[in-house]
Amino acid sequence: MLTIPTRPGRCFMGRLAKGDDLLLALEKFCQEHNITLGEVRALGAVTKARVGFYHQEERKYQWLDLPNPREILSLIGNISVKDGKPMVHAHVTLSGDDGRVVGGHLAEGTPVFACEFAIHEYQADQVLARQNDPETGLMLWPVNVAVVK
Ligand code: ZN
Repeated sequence: MLTIPTRPGRCFMGRLAKGDDLLLALEKFCQEHNITLGEVRALGAVTKARVGFYHQEERKYQWLDLPNPREILSLIGNISVKDGKPMVHAHVTLSGDDGRVVGGHLAEGTPVFACEFAIHEYQADQVLARQNDPETGLMLWPVNVAVVK
């Protein structure tokens, strides 16, 4: 297990523009505001979506392209560091016009129709930087985190 103590940082609420890429726009906001640790939540709608499912045996993502408009019932994610930059890891639950739900690991290629988000930044004495985890094949937080001043 890995845990690090955190303290509350800044909080932001905002709205993305129609046509923004959902994942990239959230990530860009974090990069522009130097948010390297935190949580993100959002709701709204997308005009189409791309989500992933990680096949644990094959160690690769299967990408699912959803061509129709969907409601974002829930987007939940975290913010940490990958390759020296803030990175958003988010999962979404989306519903179609029949109310049925699909979801997965949010990927680039999901254009916003409307989206309202909240970001809660955390402060910490350690940096949570993603690195390759040989056990899963995923980019995860290491068990031993680097301590920064
Ligand atoms: Zn994921």
